[in-house]
Amino acid sequence: MNDTPIKVAVLGLGIMGGGMAGQLIAKGLDVAVWNRDPAKATALGDAGARIATSPADAASGADFVVAMLANDDASRAVWLGEDGALGAMRDAAIAVECSTLTVDWTAELAAAAAARGIGFVDAPVTGTKPQAASGTLRFFAGGDEATIAQAGPVLNAMGTEVIRLGPSGSGVLLKLINNFMCGVQIATVAEALVMIERSGLDRDQAASVLTAGAPGSPLVKLLAERMLKQDYQPNFLPGLMAKDLSYAIEAFGAQGIELATAMAARARFEAAAASTPEADMASVIEPVRRGA
Ligand code: NAP
Repeated sequence: MNDTPIKVAVLGLGIMGGGMAGQLIAKGLDVAVWNRDPAKATALGDAGARIATSPADAASGADFVVAMLANDDASRAVWLGEDGALGAMRDAAIAVECSTLTVDWTAELAAAAAARGIGFVDAPVTGTKPQAASGTLRFFAGGDEATIAQAGPVLNAMGTEVIRLGPSGSGVLLKLINNFMCGVQIATVAEALVMIERSGLDRDQAASVLTAGAPGSPLVKLLAERMLKQDYQPNFLPGLMAKDLSYAIEAFGAQGIELATAMAARARFEAAAASTPEADMASVIEPVRRGA
């Protein structure tokens, strides 16, 4: 039996990537980390990770390279830019892209990996900061079965479920459909609560009737509570939800579906991102409260 720990590079140590890297270290994997702002790597270095000086430095010698980055531009820079990870990976290594990205960029990245003979999995996640920090994420995986199975020990160290949805790109596609539905629901909660507040209904009673009834999805329950308490500790930033809705609008548009509800919801998240970019997306209610 080979007891050598699996070597994993984690690129992007924000709210999600930091927790994911922490779980890999806690589970005994051999972890190298890199973040554009190196300050976010310090605590992980103290916990036992090697702090790399570039994506290429992190990726060299790794069995798996996991990225958790803001958007397409960040992903492109980190995989293919100067000192990018892809060029430094060894041939049998596997690239695991967990960020929420466009379908088109994911296809381009998968093709770049294939051209180098490197296995590629798109594995965006559901769950937020606490799930990343506790290793209880769910992965929406796209790619060939064998490659996803090979990535199993790494994904299972960070999550509780790996759902294979089909070939490369399937994971990111369902993630965009998922976040489209989430974003629209959250924007409707914000508007509904402001209507309750303005119209003089008993706010707590009205909110509990709604969240206990048909509109009360798990997400609506969670976000309504945060909006009522004005608890905006960052779990998911409003700018990232606006980005996800843009990417969903693009993906649906490619199938001839105009995503009218997502366009309206995106305007709400853009307004929140403009005023409170570092607050949780629950702050989407504040510009509605102000009538902005
Ligand atoms: P975050 O805390 O804002 O972290 C974003 C990360 O991307 C940081 O490491 C940041 O580096 C990096 N980055 C941004 N632009 C870059 C660039 N041009 N070059 C290199 N690195 C760059 O976001 P997060 O919440 O962890 O989200 C990460 C991804 O997971 C996003 O795609 C998001 O949509 C998705 N996601 C988030 C959640 C959630 O609940 N938060 C849930 C599911 C999926 P710096 O630190 O240097 O800025």
